[in-house]
Amino acid sequence: MNNIGIISDKDFEILNEPPFPRPYFEAFETPLRIKCIMDYFEKENLFEDNRIKKIPIRSFEKIETILALVHTRYHVDSIKYFSNMGSGSIGESIFITEETFQLAKKAVEGTITAFDSVISGDINQSFAFIRPPGHHALRDVASGLCIFNNIAVGIQYLRKIKKNAKKVAIIDIDNHYGDGIAKFFYEDPNVLYFSIHEYDFDQGELGFIHELGENEGLGYNINFPIPPKTTDKYYLEFFDILKVVFSEFKPEIIIVACGFDCHYTDPIGNCLLTANSYIKLTQKLLTLANNVCNGKIAFILEGGYSLSALPICSYSIIKALLGELVNLPSQEKIEFPEDLDISKVITKVKDELKELLRDYWPII
Ligand SMILES: [Zn+2]
Repeated sequence: MNNIGIISDKDFEILNEPPFPRPYFEAFETPLRIKCIMDYFEKENLFEDNRIKKIPIRSFEKIETILALVHTRYHVDSIKYFSNMGSGSIGESIFITEETFQLAKKAVEGTITAFDSVISGDINQSFAFIRPPGHHALRDVASGLCIFNNIAVGIQYLRKIKKNAKKVAIIDIDNHYGDGIAKFFYEDPNVLYFSIHEYDFDQGELGFIHELGENEGLGYNINFPIPPKTTDKYYLEFFDILKVVFSEFKPEIIIVACGFDCHYTDPIGNCLLTANSYIKLTQKLLTLANNVCNGKIAFILEGGYSLSALPICSYSIIKALLGELVNLPSQEKIEFPEDLDISKVITKVKDELKELLRDYWPII
């Protein structure tokens, strides 16, 4: 029987309200993101299922030492000081409130709890519903709504403190390239990072197919950019490549940087996915994980700002892990017009990426 751990905390539903009204980008990273998910789970009686375990977030007295495995002391201290000073904006797309430091620490602790509970074998898969997100946070600076790099810190905790999970594979399905995770592990052959993200390079973002890692890490950073308006029909084309690479790499755990901002209702992303893509991806990932790492998968919430998409997509993933299908509401049954240009672009990306990866992986 598959047991699934749900990791969250009331603080994520209450604290760190953005100090800006809409339409500012920052306004979308709100406590309602978690509240609407947890309310939906309650309404659907998810926690009455004995395969679902609510796991409390473990708090760490020495969390700052753990943060220092990834971040500079200056960065950690500056977030602490800015939080103590009150609310405002620091840099691009980053807001700080009196509660930011407290909540960002808890997001890291939630991620560690999600990793630990799967690695220890207490449960088969976990899903951490945390905020703020983490995948853009860099070693010495917050970035793109992300304060601390939840996943990078969680991985370093497993490897440096727990001395387990030597090999970890990440699949990042957030609409945006997780530059913080990619940069941190860019030369590391034991952390494989595979990102599928919207092709948005006119704004100067990274995430090209040629960014394959460096030195010993060459071949372990894989980017699969997809065009805006990508629909369910073409989204999962990347999986053929991911399946070969993950099977060969043989990680001890698969981590999903689980952003939902590719959903068609998202106010920030421009892709056109419905819950169906998340369901199909989960089914494929579960089969893959069962073959390569005893089914160990930890989902960590990243972005995703549509308050109608977050609950149904999260719920659908958990049900898919249980081997069940959800009766989707009508807004998830929308059919977008066929766009052959998207098909062509995705095929081109896939072919070129396969060519580039042949030096490192047995790509067919
Ligand atoms: Zn995002």
